[in-house]
Amino acid sequence: MKGSLNRLSNKVSAVFSTLFSAAGRQSDHRRLTQYIVTLNQKQNPREIISEVSLCFKDILNYRLFAFVIRTDRGIDVWLDPRMYKKSLESVIINDFDITDNSNINYLNHTFHPDDKESECSLKNLTSYDLIEENCRAKIYMLPNQTLLNYHDEIVNIILKSTGIAISRQMNIARLTDAASLDPLTGCYNRREFQNQIQRSVSDATRHKKPLSIFMFDIDHFKRVNDTHGHPAGDEVLKEISRLVADNIRRGDTLARYGGEEFIAILPETAKHKAIELADRLRLKIQSKEIKTDSGNIKVTASFGIAELHPHADSSRLVKDADEMLYKSKLSGRNRVMPGLIKIAPPKKAVKIRH
Ligand code: GH3
Ligand code: MG
Ligand code: MG
Repeated sequence: MKGSLNRLSNKVSAVFSTLFSAAGRQSDHRRLTQYIVTLNQKQNPREIISEVSLCFKDILNYRLFAFVIRTDRGIDVWLDPRMYKKSLESVIINDFDITDNSNINYLNHTFHPDDKESECSLKNLTSYDLIEENCRAKIYMLPNQTLLNYHDEIVNIILKSTGIAISRQMNIARLTDAASLDPLTGCYNRREFQNQIQRSVSDATRHKKPLSIFMFDIDHFKRVNDTHGHPAGDEVLKEISRLVADNIRRGDTLARYGGEEFIAILPETAKHKAIELADRLRLKIQSKEIKTDSGNIKVTASFGIAELHPHADSSRLVKDADEMLYKSKLSGRNRVMPGLIKIAPPKKAVKIRH
């Protein structure tokens, strides 16, 4: 990486001395070199993109229209907020060979269906590919001036530097994810759960807020594997964890605790709320039909709930939930423990005859 940066820096110097020395544009030379150095110090793709945008505007007077990166999750798009989204969307769908806009994720702002955007002409839209190691991206621009021959050379230098910077950030993100996520389900792994539960317990204790957790384990999962095969079992694990992840709050954390056992941290949640949530999830799980290559599969799950007691620590909290899960299994499975408290109907007043 360092070697390629040095080579790039030398190339920048060489191109600029040819291009600008005669024209006396030493300050442009210094500015481009400075931008490239800054790009490589940026900590995330958003910062890199906004630096690239400044660089194009400052040196070439181009307006960066959009920056589109293919990621593991889909297509990330940074779009100039003044631009018309809908017209570009069809260009992106075509260029990135995707079927629709469902995997497009706008990084810099959220669009509301009723947003009034001013339409702009894409007649001069110019796109550049950015291909660096495992990074696939495109930059769309609207040049404000006629393209001169030497502009291409400058654009290529900016693109190369951007590719290196983005690709490095993506590698860092992948490594971080690989260390904390479960590869099958995409949930946090047990090690990351241990980190997060420690943080959640100290936050709850410091701010005197309730904290609950639930653990669940798929019932008779061995039978699923035995009947439908291991790949179908894997499919069930993915679908059930996705179902639960989609139905908890953004601030909650779901982790795979072991084979077919998961655990969730619910900050600012008292036990009765956690029980209600777990029961809703239990019902969703039992009615979910999972389509696999070996037929449709339905499963149930047993839940154990625990709330943090004052002065207790995270291991006590997990132990309490585990005991409750065990109780759910013993009491017949497909249930939540402790269960919802049934409020007995008021007793009818009995008339006493004298
Ligand atoms: P219980 O209701 O008591 O929880 O019964 P169970 O069959 O779910 O529990 P048991 O512990 O007997 O079996 C769990 C099974 O989960 C056995 C193991 O092979 C399977 N398993 C663990 N991890 C995976 C995985 O990643 N993929 C698949 N397909 N199966 C897994
Ligand atoms: Mg099980
Ligand atoms: Mg188990």
